[in-house]
Amino acid sequence: MFNFSGKTILITGASYGLGANIATSFASAGARLILTARTQDRLESVGAQCREIGVEVLCISGDVANEDDVKNVVAGGVSEFGCIDVLINNAGISDSRGISAERFPTDTFDNIMNIDLKGAFLYMREVGLHMLMKKSGNIVNICSIKGSGANENTNIAYAAAKGAMRNITQQLGCEWADRGVRVNAVSPGYIITDMTRMALQKLGMDKIIASRTPMRRLGEVHEIVNAVLFLASDMAGYITGHDLLVDGGTNAGNGYYQIQPLLHEWNAETAPMAPGAYPGLVPRPEWMESLLPGLPGIHFPVADRK
Ligand code: NAP
Repeated sequence: MFNFSGKTILITGASYGLGANIATSFASAGARLILTARTQDRLESVGAQCREIGVEVLCISGDVANEDDVKNVVAGGVSEFGCIDVLINNAGISDSRGISAERFPTDTFDNIMNIDLKGAFLYMREVGLHMLMKKSGNIVNICSIKGSGANENTNIAYAAAKGAMRNITQQLGCEWADRGVRVNAVSPGYIITDMTRMALQKLGMDKIIASRTPMRRLGEVHEIVNAVLFLASDMAGYITGHDLLVDGGTNAGNGYYQIQPLLHEWNAETAPMAPGAYPGLVPRPEWMESLLPGLPGIHFPVADRK
């Protein structure tokens, strides 16, 4: 459906999770890729998969929160391929411990803001300048439903970062609209990746999330990727400053679609309740340990669940 032949796409957070899937999907659509994340070997492995599909790939490791790294990735990409047509600001972290705002540690707050918000801004500024000079380009920010509303996942820094990212999307979408650069966001509901798997599957949060999602299921990674490809393509040529929610109706439902978690499988025979296997997962038992005491703020009998 999409053809990105001749286009160069820079994707942050491309070493695993959603970013790795975005990378292989753009490769399948013919794009040249600049991939970045901190973990060099996993980045190279995604790069190798994309090269097998038949496209040119440049992997440059770096931390999105480090300005020198960001400049190095952008300069390296422009020097290798001549230009950057699309930026996908995907890199992000969260914190699944469920710490309430009144006890939220300052260093955790700073870390999340630095990666999820400042990192995205640095890339928008550096790549945006390049795009404005060539009078064309477009940016897709991976935001979150937490950017436009609250839910039971208590993580004040993530909510702040994603809310600000959504607002920056609107601001830059307008600020750069008459200079050839579009800026949009995709806001996923819950999908299973390294970021969320422990909480969603091990603690049974997938059930409570499904119970309050009008479609009664989590999202699939490809459903998020499709929205990213659309906004990055010329098919979305008159769309800018937009936050595209890909959330099974969650934010539209406004809470009214909650059913008892125990009943959530009432339509399981006709619709899958959770995505299939997630190939990129690297089990991290220490996460499980930290989550077992329970998630304050989540109204669910965590301790009873195995
Ligand atoms: P993930 O599986 O944890 O992957 C995160 C990616 O970001 C990895 O490639 C990681 O690579 C990279 N990253 C983290 N910190 C970085 C840093 N300082 N510098 C450079 N790269 C960094 O998470 P995901 O679920 O795919 O999330 C991708 C995006 O979707 C995030 O922005 C997230 O907030 C958003 N999102 C996810 C969900 C969900 O349900 N999963 C829902 C809504 C929004 P390295 O560790 O190698 O650096």
